[in-house]
Amino acid sequence: MLYIYNTLSRIKQPFKPLHEGRVGMYVCGPTVYGDAHLGHARPAITFDILFRYLQHKGYKVRYVRNITDVGHLEHDADSGEDKIAKKARLEQLEPMEVVQYYLNRYHHDMEALNVLPPSIEPHASGHIIEQIEYIKKILEAGYAYESQGSVYFDVAKYNKDHHYGKLSGRNIDDLLSTTRELDGQDEKRNPLDFALWKKAAPEHIMHWPSPWSEGFPGWHLECSTMGEKYLGEEFDIHGGGMDLMFPHHECEIAQSVAAKGHDTVHYWMHNNMITIAGKKMGKSYNNFITLEQFFKGEHPLLTRPYSPMVIRFFILQAQYRSTVDFSDAALQAADKALQKMLDGYRRLQALVPAEKSSVELPDFAAKCYEAMDDDLNTPMVIAELFDACKYINQASDGQITLSAADIDKLKALFNTFLIDLLGIRVESSAADGNNAERKAFEGAVDLLMDVRKNAKAAKDWTTSDLIRDRLAALGFDVKDTKSGVEWKIKS
Ligand code: ZN
Repeated sequence: MLYIYNTLSRIKQPFKPLHEGRVGMYVCGPTVYGDAHLGHARPAITFDILFRYLQHKGYKVRYVRNITDVGHLEHDADSGEDKIAKKARLEQLEPMEVVQYYLNRYHHDMEALNVLPPSIEPHASGHIIEQIEYIKKILEAGYAYESQGSVYFDVAKYNKDHHYGKLSGRNIDDLLSTTRELDGQDEKRNPLDFALWKKAAPEHIMHWPSPWSEGFPGWHLECSTMGEKYLGEEFDIHGGGMDLMFPHHECEIAQSVAAKGHDTVHYWMHNNMITIAGKKMGKSYNNFITLEQFFKGEHPLLTRPYSPMVIRFFILQAQYRSTVDFSDAALQAADKALQKMLDGYRRLQALVPAEKSSVELPDFAAKCYEAMDDDLNTPMVIAELFDACKYINQASDGQITLSAADIDKLKALFNTFLIDLLGIRVESSAADGNNAERKAFEGAVDLLMDVRKNAKAAKDWTTSDLIRDRLAALGFDVKDTKSGVEWKIKS
C-alpha cells in the first residue's frame, strides 16, 4: 500500500483513489518566459516518479501539467509589464512565439532528464473562456467583487465562512500583520485580496475581452479552472513545489471552495526546494543555473558539464520532502555514484550463471517496494540497489557464484527500479548517438580486446601492450578480470 504525505492533513496517508483503478493528478507546470533551471527539475522529476509508480501499480493515470503563458501577476519590477509581453515587445515577437520558443526548450530539457510527458499539457491562454466562467461563479457566490474593471477575491469574507490559510498553516490575522497597508489608491478592499481578473493597461499585449474589462486572468485561477476541466470537480492529487503552497495553492483552494462549496483535491503534495551553497535560488543571489548550463558546464559555479542523468540521480538521492543543497562537489559525488551503479548494471548483464548460488540473496525487490510505498523514498531504493551491486561485483570477480534464476532476479530488479521507476537511462546519456553507430563502435573495441587476448596467449607482449597503451591514451580504461576483459571510457 502506497503511503503519501498529505500537506493538508500533515500526515502520511494510505493512498486511496476516488475511482477504482484510476488516478487524476495535477501538477503546476512552468511559466514559459525563460529557460528551465534546477528549480524546475525537482518538481518535474518528483512527480515523474509518482506518475511512473502509480502506473507501475496498475492505475490508469491522467496527469495534467499546465503551461503558464498569460499575464500572471509576477510583473517585471521596473515596468510592471508581464514578462512574456515584455520579451515579445523587446524582441519584436508575437507573445506566442516567445511561449513556444521556451516551451520547446523546456520539453527538450525534460526529455533529456527522462521526464515522461504528462497526459495533458493545457495552456492557460487556451482556457480564458473557462476562467471567465469560473470568476462568474465566485462572484455569484459573493466571494469576489469588481473594482475599476478588475475582479478581486474577497479574502476577509471568505475567511468568515472558511479557513483561508489551512494548507500553509497560516491565519488571516498573522498574514495581515505582515502585509503592507492599502494606500487608498488601491482597487482592493483588503491587502490580502488577490486578482481573479485584471484590467489590462494599454501597453499590455496579451489581453482578452470579458464582462468586466479588456484584460487577463489572475495566475491562481488557471490551475483551479484547468484542474476541474480535465480532472473533474474532485480529483486525487495536486502537486507542486513548496514555494507554491502559499499563496498559489492556498488561493486555488479558496477559489474552488468559493465557487463550488467544497474542496477539490484529496492529496496535496509538495516537493522541497533546492538551495545553492546553502542559499535559496533567486534573482538577488544571482545563482540561477539553467539546465542547459549544467549539461554544457557553462556556469562559474560548475567545474565541468554534468549529464542529465547525473542531475536526475542527484535529485533522487534525496527524498522529495527534504531539502537538497546543490554544489559542484555534490554533483561530482552524484556522478561517481551513478557511474558505480551503471557499472554494476553492466557487470550484471555479463554475469555467467553458475549451477547454483553460493550465497542467499536478500529480497531486494521487497525492500525497494517498501521504500517506494513509504512516500516515494528514492534514496532508500538507491541504497538497496547499491547493496545488490555488491553481490554483482563479487560474482563478477569470482568471489561468489550466482544461479541463472538469481541473475534473472537481479536483472528484473534493476529493470524495474533503476530503469522503469527511477527513470535512469542506462546507455551513455551524454553522447547517445544512434544505436547502430554505438554498436559498431563497441564491436570494434571488443575486436581489439580479442586481438589483445590472442596476443597475450601467444606471449606477444609488444602487441598486447601497444593495444592497452594506445587505448589508455584515447581515454579507455581496460581491466583484466576473472571472466575476461572489461573496458569503459574514463569519465
Ligand atoms: Zn498552479
